[in-house]
Amino acid sequence: MTAIYDRVALIGLGLIASSMSHAMRRHGLAHEITGTARSAETRKIAGEIGLCDRVTATAAEAVEGADLVVLAVPVGAMGAVAEEIGPHLKPGATVTDVGSVKRAVIEAVAPHIPEGVHLVPGHPLAGTEHSGPRAGFAELFENRWCLLVPPEGTDRDAVERLALLWQSMGSNVDLMDADHHDLVLAVTSHTPHLIAYTMVGVADDLRRVTDSEVVKYSAAGFRDFTRIAASDPTMWRDVFLTNKDATLEILGRFTEELFALQRAIRTGNGDLLHEYFTRTRGIRRGIIEAGQDTAAPDFGRVQRKADG
Ligand code: NAP
Repeated sequence: MTAIYDRVALIGLGLIASSMSHAMRRHGLAHEITGTARSAETRKIAGEIGLCDRVTATAAEAVEGADLVVLAVPVGAMGAVAEEIGPHLKPGATVTDVGSVKRAVIEAVAPHIPEGVHLVPGHPLAGTEHSGPRAGFAELFENRWCLLVPPEGTDRDAVERLALLWQSMGSNVDLMDADHHDLVLAVTSHTPHLIAYTMVGVADDLRRVTDSEVVKYSAAGFRDFTRIAASDPTMWRDVFLTNKDATLEILGRFTEELFALQRAIRTGNGDLLHEYFTRTRGIRRGIIEAGQDTAAPDFGRVQRKADG
């Protein structure tokens, strides 16, 4: 494949950025990849494993001369990073991000992007519960969606070029409005994570069931919650702090449904429970048919999951 960008700068070198680096290299999508991270430790690891062509000490240095700059830090850190790199961006460059929330990122980043630089925020719907520079792998984005949320009036060529990069890394690309993105993700990702965190917390607090029993018998369903609840605490703290309205709306609806099911259990309303579970089963089938998961049992979890 021919390169899509001459120079790409990755700001933050965790799961998403390292996966992008592997994928861009595998498919020859950039001539040079520079990268930087906040801590000396991460920069050292990135250097040792050869994650980028060049690892720089600061974000300002990393973006010098870059055609594409990818902000791959927690959502709450995007604004400060944008402020640091703003004066060093090359005219005509594109700045994108991979944050899980979009409206808050646009509000934090846009004021620091100079005239003549294109801001095309994005969000790959792919991840795992692992973090850091060693967590990445080239296949992470394959057959996953990447949502781009360019503000109105964004340069079309810049959007198309970025879309081509994601497609070349194996993703399907959709364009979406930022607020709608945040609502969709509150349903499909953010609230489910909060529920998983809660369920694992409940099991931890419940003294009548021992920790060793929870671990030993976890394959009965709990284990899937624990995988999600092992996700990075900083990332998820920032997601809830910045996607407050949408997650609170969905949580409100969730609580109402939970009460309805609770009532059905108490009153012995089996019909309601059966109808409800039949409807939800249909949604699972739809996800498998859309190729977003497999129906195969994976009790040993030998495969790498990519569903963040
Ligand atoms: P990660 O593996 O935890 O890596 C985060 C990177 O950001 C690290 O290099 C870290 O530097 C740096 N960082 C952390 N706090 C910072 C701060 N205050 N200022 C500057 N840099 C900071 O994270 P990730 O999973 O790649 O996530 C990156 C972004 O992608 C997040 O915005 C997240 O919402 C989004 N995202 C994640 C997933 C997922 O499932 N993980 C999926 C889609 C999108 P050090 O290593 O030096 O601490």
